[in-house]
Amino acid sequence: MKITDVKTHVLSTPLEEPFAFSMGWVTQRSAVIVELSTDEGVTGWGEALCHGLQPPEIAAAIIETALKPTVVGQDPFDVDVLWERMYNRTRPFGQKGAVPNAISAVDIAIWDCMGRALGKPVHKLLGGAYRTEVQPYATGYYRRKAGAYPEEAIAEAKSHLAKGFKAIKLKIGFGLEEDIEYVRSVRDAVGPGPKIMVDANHAYTVGAARRLLKAIEPSHIHWFEEPISPEDIDGYKELKSLTNIYIAAGENEFTKFGFREWISRRTVDILQPDLCAAGGFTECRKISALAQAWHTPIVPHVWGAGIAQAASLQFIATLPPAPLALYPSEPMLEYDQSTHPFRQDLIYHAIGMDDRGMVQIPDGPGLGIEVNRGILERYRSA
Ligand code: CA
Repeated sequence: MKITDVKTHVLSTPLEEPFAFSMGWVTQRSAVIVELSTDEGVTGWGEALCHGLQPPEIAAAIIETALKPTVVGQDPFDVDVLWERMYNRTRPFGQKGAVPNAISAVDIAIWDCMGRALGKPVHKLLGGAYRTEVQPYATGYYRRKAGAYPEEAIAEAKSHLAKGFKAIKLKIGFGLEEDIEYVRSVRDAVGPGPKIMVDANHAYTVGAARRLLKAIEPSHIHWFEEPISPEDIDGYKELKSLTNIYIAAGENEFTKFGFREWISRRTVDILQPDLCAAGGFTECRKISALAQAWHTPIVPHVWGAGIAQAASLQFIATLPPAPLALYPSEPMLEYDQSTHPFRQDLIYHAIGMDDRGMVQIPDGPGLGIEVNRGILERYRSA
């Protein structure tokens, strides 16, 4: 089988009401979708992570100009070789960020293609599923200009819990005193049952994060995500030794080379690579193996449209429990509940939470989904 074409679809749409996290205001939702064709008529789909402040055109240009020429004419079943060629070709100008995002989308499309060719879900090709379903947690709690906090967050928490979520992740990073009051208020409002995580999107220094950690420990926070800058690996290690709240990070790291430092230096309790950012299935299975060798559980970062969600579920299925015990710590699905006009509509058989509060791993061929081409046209970037 030979890859005959790699088409990039750039989708973008303004949000009716922009929302903020600690890094800025998100005014549009975008996606970079890869459609891979072969000489045997099999198609594969992939998606690159498109950060809230990231112009999708950057990763799209990398795919068109650097990655497409590398993979067209090649056999998709040589996926490992193709990954290394894509990485080596782009290494001098892109070891992190939009280049690995772009490689991820092409790699995911190649795996989808292989799965469709064999009539097997990607998790079977990767060695099998440890689980058929996963517990999701609700990501949301972005700020609106007109919003009043913490009242709006308390109402949001109650609505997620009423839908069946058992875990929620609060966006913080809006100032120490405000964050402390905010976290306490939400915990008081929802009671002791639900799991609560907090995510500062690296808004703090080590000193400020240490104060915050101490202040919110009584609120029984499960993990504190990206308290400090992703460049400050030693800072993470320092914070981890000071608190009983798990320290989590990884959405701003890429490839086995980047994760090698985080894992081997034991900097976090929970590692959060994004399948659509860190290098796709080929690279994330290696990151997963490194993490297992250092006994570090993975709970992937997920913040994309339907292809990204389906691909992430395939990856989550393959993550070994850490440790393998009668009651192991299981990965969760980060299930973004913030506004996204085409997240669900992009795919048929959209991902959803069942009445038990669980999300099923797709078990159809490849990623287990079909793409709605009408949505590609409707949201195509001008
Ligand atoms: Ca995050």
